[in-house]
Amino acid sequence: VISLPEAQQFVLAGCRLLVPRSVALDEASGCVAAATVIAREPVPPFTNSSMDGYAVRASDTQDAPVQLSVADTVMAGSVSSLVLQAGQAIRIMTGAALPAGADAVCMMEETTTDPEGATVTIARAVPPGNFVRVPGSDIAVGDELVARGVAIRPAHIGVLASQGFTTVEVHGRPRVGVLSTGNELVGDGAVLTEGKIRDSNRHTLLALVRSEGWEGVDLGIVPDDETALLEVFARGGEQCDAIITSGGVSVGDLDVVKQVLQKIGGSSMRWMQVAIRPGKPFAFGVLEESGLPVFGLPGNPVSAMVSFELFVRPGVRQMVGFTDLDRPRVCAFADHDFARRPDGRLHFVRSRAVCDARGTWHVSPLRAQESHQLHAMAEADALAVIPDGTGIAASAEVEILLLDPSRSMSSVRRIEYRS
Ligand code: AMP
Ligand code: MG
Repeated sequence: VISLPEAQQFVLAGCRLLVPRSVALDEASGCVAAATVIAREPVPPFTNSSMDGYAVRASDTQDAPVQLSVADTVMAGSVSSLVLQAGQAIRIMTGAALPAGADAVCMMEETTTDPEGATVTIARAVPPGNFVRVPGSDIAVGDELVARGVAIRPAHIGVLASQGFTTVEVHGRPRVGVLSTGNELVGDGAVLTEGKIRDSNRHTLLALVRSEGWEGVDLGIVPDDETALLEVFARGGEQCDAIITSGGVSVGDLDVVKQVLQKIGGSSMRWMQVAIRPGKPFAFGVLEESGLPVFGLPGNPVSAMVSFELFVRPGVRQMVGFTDLDRPRVCAFADHDFARRPDGRLHFVRSRAVCDARGTWHVSPLRAQESHQLHAMAEADALAVIPDGTGIAASAEVEILLLDPSRSMSSVRRIEYRS
């Protein structure tokens, strides 16, 4: 039996960074930038108005109210061919280039235009630069737009688009193959005969994979048979960056995943008994030919999910360049007892976590904590981490792993905006 940190270290050592590749800008949100991107154009690219109004010489408005003659109109996307003279104003729309000779904009709301549009009265004096956006006031040439290692978010995409970038270098959206093993499994829609169960793990794991923004590759159900398993690993090796299996890593007679992985993974493969509950049996290794990491998760549905959280998610995140690998961990007040018996293992208890409006966390264990009882997992938004011993009493503090922070925080009082 080995400790969780030791098992995690072994996994991370086998999860190498994917080779950077260029992806279309619209595909890059959620990926980690593989290279720093530097601004090559000023934004905005030219001096323009930030208001609908009149472009003026600020000095002409000092004795406001004043009447100016309207010399031209300039819309966004156009340029006035005139040079603004003393005593003149040019009607201007937001985003239009400031005409030569003008140094300020009076907002429409503080002007009165005569019915013919020939003159305008400026109600209030404006300083030079009023409502004028200068080139580079958002982004200057040479600014760092996205730093290497940063997770790209929608605002980064907009910033890169504002510079004319159409692609970006990232560590890629990993393709993660998922397969279920077990002679007892039947596929979708099949009739259940005596002794068989439906395959749920493949669907759960594909959903977890996709919820991380990774590409899920369905490798199907594989019987407990070495040849069949070898064939799927070969196929998966060509299509995927990582493979997740469930079932067949325990100590039973037909736990062939463990055996096959030991055969093809050689020394890099390790079958482990990790000091955790659920998720004790686990296998991990790197396929010798392709360098592809294979995560051998246990078959019990809750164990498979917990092992995904503790091993697969951090491992694949490392492969695509993330440095924060774990789910957020916070301290919560136990609203009920988290009772347990000493067994030398760290327990991950399916729990309901709630964050109140002050940011204080509260947590309660859910019922039905056995590793085949997936239903409670669907209620859980956190795993309470209960160290070996006799448990944690109500009102004491307990560390929790947040699986779904936005759900945990959904009861936080909504802000009411007042102007
Ligand atoms: P194993 O790890 O293969 O010994 O399986 C442990 C338990 O999980 C057994 O009760 C299996 O029937 C069950 N199990 C294995 N694979 C799946 C699956 N894909 N979906 C649902 N249950 C499974
Ligand atoms: Mg099995």
